[in-house]
Amino acid sequence: MASLAAPPEFRHTYARSLPGLAATWKADESPNPQLIVANNALAGELGIDPTWLNSTEALHLFSGNDTAQGLERYALAYAGHQFGSYSPRLGDGRALLVGEFDDLNGHKWDLHLKGSGRTPFARGGDGKATLGPMLREYLMGEAMHALGIPTTRALAVITTGDLAMRERPLPGAILVRVADSHLRVGTFQYAAALGDLDDLRTLADYAIGRHYPELADDSDRYMKFLGAVIERQAHLVADWMLVGFIHGVMNTDNVTISGETIDYGPCAFMDVVDPNTVFSSIDEGGRYAYGRQPSITQWNLARFAETLLPLIATNPDDAIAPATQALEEFPEIFSRRWHAGMNRRLGLSTTVDGDDDLANNLIALLQERRLDLISTMRSLSNHLRGEDIGLAEWTARWETRLELEHASSEEMISRLEAANPIYVPRNHLVEEALSSAVAGDLNKFDALLERVTNPYQHVDNAERYSQPGDPGPGYRTYCGT
Ligand code: AMP
Ligand code: MG
Repeated sequence: MASLAAPPEFRHTYARSLPGLAATWKADESPNPQLIVANNALAGELGIDPTWLNSTEALHLFSGNDTAQGLERYALAYAGHQFGSYSPRLGDGRALLVGEFDDLNGHKWDLHLKGSGRTPFARGGDGKATLGPMLREYLMGEAMHALGIPTTRALAVITTGDLAMRERPLPGAILVRVADSHLRVGTFQYAAALGDLDDLRTLADYAIGRHYPELADDSDRYMKFLGAVIERQAHLVADWMLVGFIHGVMNTDNVTISGETIDYGPCAFMDVVDPNTVFSSIDEGGRYAYGRQPSITQWNLARFAETLLPLIATNPDDAIAPATQALEEFPEIFSRRWHAGMNRRLGLSTTVDGDDDLANNLIALLQERRLDLISTMRSLSNHLRGEDIGLAEWTARWETRLELEHASSEEMISRLEAANPIYVPRNHLVEEALSSAVAGDLNKFDALLERVTNPYQHVDNAERYSQPGDPGPGYRTYCGT
């Protein structure tokens, strides 16, 4: 198979265009780096030679121990609203951009290290990451990707040989992350606050060039850029809602311009349908509860729109009305995406009046009966096989609707099974896999990874992977660890 040069040729188009938004920095050296997981499948997709990925040379690059001269690494600057309060200076506190590289199709990616030591943006943090949370990010990213949801992904996780002090000393680790880019709403907030309109325009044009190139020559491109980001983010959060994903820390610095899911900290998959579900230990007010994610996304996009006003119109006040109108379209765009997703999950290839109700009623029913989202949706195909799955009144309505599809029962079952995942990273399984991985045994991690990266494909004797578990009362997830 064709491959890129190993290592891929890294460039720094971002830091070159916007030196005020990137600080040159070096990774800390690692005393004893070890490769823990390598994503050979992702390497293959990107054209990166898997032999190189597993080599000592790559390990040196990932661990900060490379000796090559003239290496450039950057900590990226950004601001952000954290739980609603504005922090003017966040930035990569423990991460570095290794560089951008082009895959075999000429698509540009960022390669980024998370956990590579303190940077000028570290504030009080130690600049480190630990093995459990980095494996968690790896696993979650792969699961989301397999579910067809845009996401950053990890190429590898390594341990550094250092310890990081948390509630107890834990093995230090680095996540090697690949992303469409690391541009965030917070990047625009940072640039807007600097007050240099030329830099802000350069940033917007850079983002357009990378993520929305079809707008590059459009005279109304900043307004269309806003609309395009609104659409991608509306689609993203609809996709999350369809699988019960709770991001957990939807601060504006964790909202990408590309529309990828980023920064898997305290995220989790919900079992029982309940809009108030919150797992994150720091989300005391439930700001980022499952059911609030769409409206929070819209709020975050309003912060993004504010940064673009001076680009949209010479007098920013003139931009308020069109920007507001674009933001007001969010609920409709979200709802269309969500209903299209639900139609697929219900096996419907056409749309008729009443479909929206059918979907809404099912979700309401799951919520009322405190049923598990993933396994109940998957069981719809079992219903067509003659199994009693309960929900009699609703399934009767659904079956009437299915008649309009004029599809055989085999066809319906295969549609349903292609649209409804069986295996998502259940909280109790994630915890179990991570604690044994940190203790040195990767078997459970590998087994769970195998299931969640083939989420639609039933395997025998794997019931424990398809059922909600009891992660313990008051199950909590943590961020920044
Ligand atoms: P996150 O919640 O992971 O999106 O991180 C929010 C901010 O805190 C970002 O600016 C991170 O770079 C920074 N941060 C998180 N953990 C650490 C750490 N251990 N050391 C330095 N900075 C950190
Ligand atoms: Mg973040």
